[in-house]
Amino acid sequence: MKRVLLIRYGEIHLKGLNRPYFERAVLHAIEEVTRGVEGIHTYRGQGRFYLEGYPETMEPQVIQAVCKVFGVHSVSPALCLEKDLDVIAEAAAEMMRERGYVQGTFKADSRRSDKQFPLNSMQLNEELGYRLLEAIPGLSVDIHTPQWTVYCEIREEAYLYVDKIPGAGGMPSGTGGKALLLLSGGIDSPVAGWMLGKRGSAVDAIYFDSPPHTSARARQKVVDLAQIVADWTGRVRLHIVPFTQVQELLYDKGPEDMLTLLMRRAMMRIAERVARRTGCQALATGESLGQVASQTMEAIACTEDGVGMPVLRPLICFDKNDTIEVARKIGTFETSILPYEDCCTVFVPKHPLTKPQLPVVRAAEEAVYAEGGETLLEEAMKGIQVMELTRRPAFG
Ligand code: ATP
Ligand code: MG
Repeated sequence: MKRVLLIRYGEIHLKGLNRPYFERAVLHAIEEVTRGVEGIHTYRGQGRFYLEGYPETMEPQVIQAVCKVFGVHSVSPALCLEKDLDVIAEAAAEMMRERGYVQGTFKADSRRSDKQFPLNSMQLNEELGYRLLEAIPGLSVDIHTPQWTVYCEIREEAYLYVDKIPGAGGMPSGTGGKALLLLSGGIDSPVAGWMLGKRGSAVDAIYFDSPPHTSARARQKVVDLAQIVADWTGRVRLHIVPFTQVQELLYDKGPEDMLTLLMRRAMMRIAERVARRTGCQALATGESLGQVASQTMEAIACTEDGVGMPVLRPLICFDKNDTIEVARKIGTFETSILPYEDCCTVFVPKHPLTKPQLPVVRAAEEAVYAEGGETLLEEAMKGIQVMELTRRPAFG
């Protein structure tokens, strides 16, 4: 009996004339994540994709890989059958028995797209229900809140399934512009990157490295996090900026209570220049309102001041617990909590301003930069290293 994996894509239905473009992007990602599986191939049906030809034993891993693709709404492992009621009913009973669904309630949910088929959907539901009741005496029908639903679709062939496994949802990667994510080694920023990826944005990243104040292990942690994000989005170009001299200048010459703010502003300036050079249309951070002194409304206004492109903050209204929940789900949490210092913790003011005033911050910054700040920013730009991280193959 032929098995197929039926793949539904969600919101991209809505995209009108852009639909083929979105479909190609999802299809491309599905092919990429399943590359290396013997015999597998994909084909297109009405508003969905089918995967088939893979060894049955690999089905769980194939499902897991496909469910990581942004744009995939849900998947169902299905039997692909002859369009014959006897065949379908028998296979349905077998499917229920195999799963141990022999004591409880069910309903049949059919859809007939092929109008040549002699029974309409209602009739098929009745027939299937009746035959299942006969075949498995422990079952009864509950059409409102059944424990299990037996789905049957009559299309090019008959497709039969009971499971609908949720996919990652969202929009296919790269169909929604490109953002440059300020990626630190913390819990928040990788989650912010993942969320943007889920909405279809391509995500590149930038990390400000301050050796010897921050270690090689702290830097490796950021590379590892970028890799995990790339496993979801397909690709992350990580820019590593040598930031030590800028930071030391700010530390030596800047007012202590504005240290974090001036540092953030310097990061934003460099990030914006990198974004423009690399075709990113927005910056993104892991900031969340009120989480720390540098993330109050006033501080955010000071950080963003002078940036000439959107600064996206997907976590702005997230509680830390919400963020941690996502971090666990996407696989970044364990890496994020490794105890390596980052530059914000090394150079942290004892009493940071929580309600900074923009004119005061600007004036302080001007005074500091008068001592060669702009040159240091340029130097930092020149020293950038780029790493290209692509999705790690799940198979082969
Ligand atoms: P995270 O968990 O992402 O580090 P956080 O809550 O610890 O966030 P901060 O350390 O205050 O917050 O940083 C706020 C944001 O600034 C981060 O989410 C990140 O986008 C950016 N950021 C901070 N430090 C760096 C860095 N060294 N390199 C790149 N971006 C950084
Ligand atoms: Mg941090």
